[in-house]
Amino acid sequence: MEDIIEIEFQGVKIKKSGEYWKCPFKCHKDKRFPAPKWKTLKGFEKHLNSCPNSPSNIKIKEEKERLEEELKKKWIQKLNEFKDSIINSISYKIGDECYIIDKIVLKDVYEWARTRWVKVRHEPILHFKPLKIKIEKIDFCEPKQEPTDENLISFLLINDKYKINELIKSEEEAKKEADEKNRIYKQHLENSSLLR
Ligand SMILES: [Zn+2]
Repeated sequence: MEDIIEIEFQGVKIKKSGEYWKCPFKCHKDKRFPAPKWKTLKGFEKHLNSCPNSPSNIKIKEEKERLEEELKKKWIQKLNEFKDSIINSISYKIGDECYIIDKIVLKDVYEWARTRWVKVRHEPILHFKPLKIKIEKIDFCEPKQEPTDENLISFLLINDKYKINELIKSEEEAKKEADEKNRIYKQHLENSSLLR
């Protein structure tokens, strides 16, 4: 039964090489290991049917990518449609100065010890402080999910970096918020050290 030396799979003729079957679809990626080979036709056929590079699976993958591409185009179109009205609806404009809360890592989990990184604590020591920024750009980010009438504003990105809900109008408000974040973080560190 095992004397079959050539098969056809999805229009591709595959010849047995010596004692083994080898996948012709270049699915083997990790060059540190030898490409797999199959002694029995049954095992080989099982691989062919699940091979990510088989003609049918490549087709499925391409179709999926095409649909995703199309969907993304639709989403971007929707964002563009509402761009002006959303930008006009927020209380910030280009040139405004405002604050965000900056997160500073005072002491990291890992520290460099002469030749290697060593884990020295369970969690980083963080400090939050207000940072003044000037708004130079207001635009939509690339949508990773579907924009709906309700979530449009969450796609806005300020200076390619900040979400609109991260902006704080006054320094005083920003200080308060930073203090609160520092307090919560300190509490969190204390609680988690109690749990250990
Ligand atoms: Zn394969």
